[in-house]
Amino acid sequence: MASSLRRTLVLLVLLSSIKFIMVRVLFVRASKNILMSVLIFLDQADGQIRKSSLEATCYGAKVAEQLGVAAEAIVLGSVTEDLTSLGKYGIQKVYTVSNPALDQLDAQVFTKVIADAVIASGATVIVFSNNLCGKSVAPRLSVRLKAGLVTGAIALPDTSNGFVVKKNVFSGKAFANIAINTAIKIISLNSNAYPISTTDGLAVVAPFEAMVDAAKVQVSAVNKIVGEVPLTEAEIVVSGGRGLKGPENWALVTDLAKLLGAATACSRPVADINWRPHHEHVGQTGIAIAPNLYFAIGISGAIQHLAGVNRSKTIVVINKDPEAPFFKAADYGIVGDAFEVMPKIIEAVKKMKAGS
Ligand SMILES: Cc1cc2nc3c(=O)[nH]c(=O)nc-3n(C[C@H](O)[C@H](O)[C@H](O)COP(=O)(O)OP(=O)(O)OC[C@H]3O[C@@H](n4cnc5c(N)ncnc54)[C@H](O)[C@@H]3O)c2cc1C
Repeated sequence: MASSLRRTLVLLVLLSSIKFIMVRVLFVRASKNILMSVLIFLDQADGQIRKSSLEATCYGAKVAEQLGVAAEAIVLGSVTEDLTSLGKYGIQKVYTVSNPALDQLDAQVFTKVIADAVIASGATVIVFSNNLCGKSVAPRLSVRLKAGLVTGAIALPDTSNGFVVKKNVFSGKAFANIAINTAIKIISLNSNAYPISTTDGLAVVAPFEAMVDAAKVQVSAVNKIVGEVPLTEAEIVVSGGRGLKGPENWALVTDLAKLLGAATACSRPVADINWRPHHEHVGQTGIAIAPNLYFAIGISGAIQHLAGVNRSKTIVVINKDPEAPFFKAADYGIVGDAFEVMPKIIEAVKKMKAGS
């Protein structure tokens, strides 16, 4: 009787210590889960990772370094690029879901797949680029995962006391520092806000088995603009306004753009009167860009135009009116008639390229 009581007691002690160990393991896993990894969404076009996603990758890798966690990435659809080479941007692992149904953006389908990957990988910070894809997927993901979201981040988060992300507000007229307090945090990074840098390293490529829902929308045709530098990815943009008088004079813009490997843009009235296509219209109601160099030729610099271009690193304004508001935002200004100034600039660039 005494021995059976002793056996029961020993068993009880054993069971309680096993339970203690299990609780401890779960606790350690849970606390590790608080900051397990940073997951970067890689947006691709025609199998190649977009430049804005490489910026997001370097940014996400730096956030992971700040937090002392792993940097991982996920790419959807058919990719032709060697993904192991993405290790040079600071990430350790790339999850792939190489289902051709994911070659075209379907925000609802993408959201579900990325949400599953976030849960499976235990990621607690997710980084998108603030482009078309990021703009449509990140908010949906935020709702699905009950995660705080800051769109259009322009700097690394301050993690010294919480998690505070800086962004532009009021069309670039002010900054806001926004604290994300949820367990999962989502950031979408503005293009050209963080530099691409490389180190040594290879990433591990790991297929992620995802349930891909049937698309709710069907893309019937895709009309791609070929042979042009995409405006949102361009390092240099040459832009023209109503001061150029008509579409027949646009060689002044396109010739310089071709020489510099730049994208072309225009003010809104220029697109409205069909001198240039609408996809070139920049500004508050058009595309917001942040190239390293922006040429504004015959553009007044109305506030609605500036709202879309004032994040450019260097602005060169060519306008015949010395009182044109654009000069206040310019780093370099030329007061003069575009029809006299532009041929001289084009000639000078040609000579410079020829090395004379
Ligand atoms: C709600 C709202 C949203 C808007 N959104 C946008 C937007 O997203 N993007 C946008 O661009 N606009 C937008 N606008 C319009 C905006 O207010 C301006 O009207 C527009 O930007 C002016 O275009 P512009 O500078 O090409 O033309 P203009 O205002 O006509 O200016 C032409 C300029 O060219 C100069 N010029 C003339 N001849 C020459 C020459 N030979 N050589 C050199 N310079 C010359 C003139 O001095 C002048 O400064 C918006 C307006 C509203 C109300």
